[in-house]
Amino acid sequence: MSKLISLDIDRKFCPCCNSFIAVNTATDGSGSAPSAGDISVCSVCYEILEFNDQNSLRRLSNEKFMKLPEQTRIDLNNLIFIMRNAH
Ligand SMILES: [Zn+2]
Repeated sequence: MSKLISLDIDRKFCPCCNSFIAVNTATDGSGSAPSAGDISVCSVCYEILEFNDQNSLRRLSNEKFMKLPEQTRIDLNNLIFIMRNAH
C-alpha cells in the first residue's frame, strides 16, 4: 500500500526539475522513512514522484497514477493544490 510522504527531512534531487527537495516522513504521522513504491510530490515543480527500491525518486507515470486507489489520487491532487497555493 502506498503512503503519502511529506517533504521534510532528507534532501534528494527531483528527477523532473533537478531541484533539491526535502523528503521523508509519512503524512500519516508515523514518522516512517520512505520505502519502495511510496509517493511524494516535488515542492518545486509539483510532479508526483515515487521511491524506487534504491530509495531514490522517479516520476510516477500516468499509468501508475491511474492505478492508485481513488482516495490516494484525491489526496495527491489536494496536496498539490495546497502546495501551489502556498507559494
Ligand atoms: Zn521537481
